[in-house]
Amino acid sequence: MPLLYTHTPYLAPHFTGNPVHHRIDRNKQDLQLGSLIENADDQSNAMARIMKSMKSLVSLRRSFFSVDRSFASSKSTDSSTGVCFDLTPEQMEVQQLARQFSRSEILPAAARHDKTGEYPWEIIKKAHSLGLMNHHIAEEFGGSDIGSFESAMIIEELGYGCTGITAAIDCNNLGEIPVVLAGNKEQKKKYLGRMIEEPLMCAYCVTEPGAGSDVSNIKTKAEKKGDHYVLNGQKMWITNGGHANWYFVLARTNPDPKAPSHKSLTGFIVDRHTPGLTPGRKEINMGQRASDTRGITFEDVLVPKENVLIAEGAGFKIAMGAFDRTRPTVQI
Ligand SMILES: Cc1cc2nc3c(=O)[nH]c(=O)nc-3n(C[C@H](O)[C@H](O)[C@H](O)COP(=O)(O)OP(=O)(O)OC[C@H]3O[C@@H](n4cnc5c(N)ncnc54)[C@H](O)[C@@H]3O)c2cc1C
Repeated sequence: MPLLYTHTPYLAPHFTGNPVHHRIDRNKQDLQLGSLIENADDQSNAMARIMKSMKSLVSLRRSFFSVDRSFASSKSTDSSTGVCFDLTPEQMEVQQLARQFSRSEILPAAARHDKTGEYPWEIIKKAHSLGLMNHHIAEEFGGSDIGSFESAMIIEELGYGCTGITAAIDCNNLGEIPVVLAGNKEQKKKYLGRMIEEPLMCAYCVTEPGAGSDVSNIKTKAEKKGDHYVLNGQKMWITNGGHANWYFVLARTNPDPKAPSHKSLTGFIVDRHTPGLTPGRKEINMGQRASDTRGITFEDVLVPKENVLIAEGAGFKIAMGAFDRTRPTVQI
């Protein structure tokens, strides 16, 4: 039976708007959090409470820190001692959930996955059911949009158990962020909504054999033909490449060598089962064997024009925007 974790009610004092009121005894919390629940009724109750907790993080951020970003959510002012970097009770609760999950579910399986290279589907399914992945999807599409700081906090905890398994989980964020940043309502509903409904994977396809740091040098091209674009090219080092349900793909739509690169690239959403899309062999990454990193080949892959993000030429900015949001957790 899968194990789920719950919080203790005392940890969720009503938020008054003053972070100073929310300081709590961390040692006491460490002892009280993470009680294991093994019966089915309790599991669904626990799930509801955990999701509520994740959502309370969202409302906390929105109500108190109107300007989101990274450290803002942990920064507060204590009138007597100056700046306070304590986590809020809600952040601690989610951190403890991730910590317990990492120790109980990831750590015991880490050596086996690293040895065999088997993709950690069972762990992914449990992480999905607890809301520990797909952190940036808006509530409107079923997600919790918990923010970069809270996402980094979760990934740090999961990474303690196994960085390979965590890379698989975290790289969903990498694939999703371009759609979060640049998708229209239909695209978000279709491609982000399904990530919440089911434990599915997606991937970010930018790097090529000849273009890594220098993203503007990518060669994969997309030619418009009627209502479709035809993609041809080769991507490399794509995490979740063999298990993705869909891909964010950056391709060159303006073949003019004199055109500025940042206006020549376009971002597409590409369904996995589109004919002509072929994942290559799995790379064996030291310490990351549980993750799935591959080359992806595109041979006359037809992508409907509805799957363009924003418009032709907007891709470079989208790809860079995705790095802005996801590099902190990838580095963990
Ligand atoms: C395990 C793994 C997973 C990955 N997953 C993905 C993924 O999911 N999607 C994806 O698109 N890509 C992925 N990548 C690719 C990753 O983003 C690239 O490896 C990265 O962008 C660096 O590119 P590169 O390997 O070609 O190195 P290069 O760009 O060739 O760089 C080599 C070295 O030169 C340095 N360097 C490069 N340019 C400069 C410069 N102008 N000035 C000074 N120093 C410079 C770099 O810092 C680096 O040390 C993954 C890579 C790995 C290893």
